[in-house]
Amino acid sequence: MEAFEFNSHPARVIFGSGTIAKLPQELERLDKSKPIILSTPNQVSQAENVGRILGGRFASIFREAEMHTPFGVTERARAVAAMTGADSIVSIGGGSTIGLGKAISIRTGLPHIAIPTSYAGSEVTPILGETKNGIKETTSDPKIRPAVVIYDVDLTLTLPVSLTATSGINAIAHAVEALYAWNGNPIINLYAQEGIRAIASALPKLMADPQNKDARASTLYGAWLCGTCLGAAGMSLHHKLCHTLGGSFDLPHAETHTIMLPHALAYNAPKVPTAMRILADVIPESDGDAVHGLNVLLIKLGVKRGLRDLGMQEQDVDRAADLAVSKPYWNPRAIDRDAMRLLLRRAWAGDVAR
Ligand code: NAD
Repeated sequence: MEAFEFNSHPARVIFGSGTIAKLPQELERLDKSKPIILSTPNQVSQAENVGRILGGRFASIFREAEMHTPFGVTERARAVAAMTGADSIVSIGGGSTIGLGKAISIRTGLPHIAIPTSYAGSEVTPILGETKNGIKETTSDPKIRPAVVIYDVDLTLTLPVSLTATSGINAIAHAVEALYAWNGNPIINLYAQEGIRAIASALPKLMADPQNKDARASTLYGAWLCGTCLGAAGMSLHHKLCHTLGGSFDLPHAETHTIMLPHALAYNAPKVPTAMRILADVIPESDGDAVHGLNVLLIKLGVKRGLRDLGMQEQDVDRAADLAVSKPYWNPRAIDRDAMRLLLRRAWAGDVAR
């Protein structure tokens, strides 16, 4: 076994069904009583329910969270928090809402309780991606991580089926890249394997029955483990490409991850044989080939396969390839513009990755 470093980040996590009822106790533990509650416009009713659970003891509800955490939205939310005397933050929603909670928390020092309702995994990472003038910038700081995470399986029952599929694949992508990260280690590999196994076996069941609570619990548990991988290991090609596509072309996060993952994995495969073996073991129906297993899973989930299906224009492929090589980063296989253009063109057209 090679030498490695492992940084464990203590986090308070509550997991189960009906766990949102524990929110008042969790605020009390933090000695706080007047949170600003954050949501997207789509989840206002869940935010209002949080207000009811708190018996009306909250500062305000801010319902304008947006994907990719635009600076302007954060400034508005911060002003509302200050104006209404908020002493803490409760975010209820997917990665966008939790991202807004992180952005306010790191600026103000207010403690943040995250209640995730998708599988993006942001709640357990020290990472914040923010968008200004069409460019997404990422910051990493342990203080960005929420103080408490409440996973309540019941809240995921309303996640639309298509987002259930793509958000689950988004989670798997974190674990995939942790398995070949430059700073990976055997402990994170355990999280990654368990996380992928839990999600890949449960997602097809959710396509048939979105209300299957066991499968929902398994997927949320897997998302937590995969999110931990994202927070603990350095990400490479796949995440960098998705970051560019999301931030500069405004493509939806989970759907973009879902389209790009088999292409990025196929590209890196020749340089990461150990990770490929592990993946082939944990992705069902791989027959020894993880890219094949992933393609089978995506077919079962009935997800979109081409960036053009998300509205990306063909002429943007060139600009995306330029951006993809504009800032060097570590990847197991060397990257050049021609290779990136080819990969992005194939992903744009929806070709099957091989
Ligand atoms: P999202 O948060 O934008 O959610 C998509 C839509 O689904 C929203 O309208 C949301 O309100 C709705 N939704 C979420 N859960 C629901 C539920 N249970 N029921 C009904 N509707 C629900 O999408 P996402 O994929 O969860 O997150 C994407 C964002 O998170 C991106 O901005 C991405 O950059 C960020 N992210 C950050 C990290 C990190 O570590 N910093 C990790 C992953 C994702």
